[in-house]
Amino acid sequence: MDGIEAAIAAGFTPLKINVVVMRGVNDDEILDFVGWARDRPINIRFIEYMPFPDNHWSTGGLMPYAQMRALIQTKYELIPMVGAANDVGKDFKIAGHEGAVSFVTSMTESFCGGCNRLRVTADGNIKSCLFQPAELSLRDAMRAGAPDVEIERLITSAVLGKQAAHPPMEELMSVKNRNMIEIGG
Ligand code: SF4
Repeated sequence: MDGIEAAIAAGFTPLKINVVVMRGVNDDEILDFVGWARDRPINIRFIEYMPFPDNHWSTGGLMPYAQMRALIQTKYELIPMVGAANDVGKDFKIAGHEGAVSFVTSMTESFCGGCNRLRVTADGNIKSCLFQPAELSLRDAMRAGAPDVEIERLITSAVLGKQAAHPPMEELMSVKNRNMIEIGG
């Protein structure tokens, strides 16, 4: 908490605070988080719980976006904001608040069609989708002396391999993938 206040004081605003909501674990804190944004330039980003290896996934732990939003609206007025085509969150101002809230609805209202994300892992692999196990090693190619044109070809091929949408939740539960903490968010 001190670190967050220090980041705001240092001018890192608006500051994004990611909250992965897990039913029975922290869903009772949703309204507290929204209240925290009253006098702070923070963007609370409520993220639906997603299945990854070793993250104790259970379907019952998922709190859908619609339920999070309905809960917040019992106490606060949410005003939709118009975002960019590639935004991953649904963004809302909160009436009377300096801060805002967003919802990352990966499981119940996925947004893969507009996704422009590419990730490079700490060990040098390009990963074109959080939920696709396929990766290409840019590190190995570079260490082998591959010219820029070859690196570009690898990146292009990763982009072209991006699927239109991630598989349904039931299939994701059994996908052999990196853990989220190894991907980096
Ligand atoms: S394409 Fe993959 S990384 Fe992009 S939004 Fe869909 S699941 Fe997430």
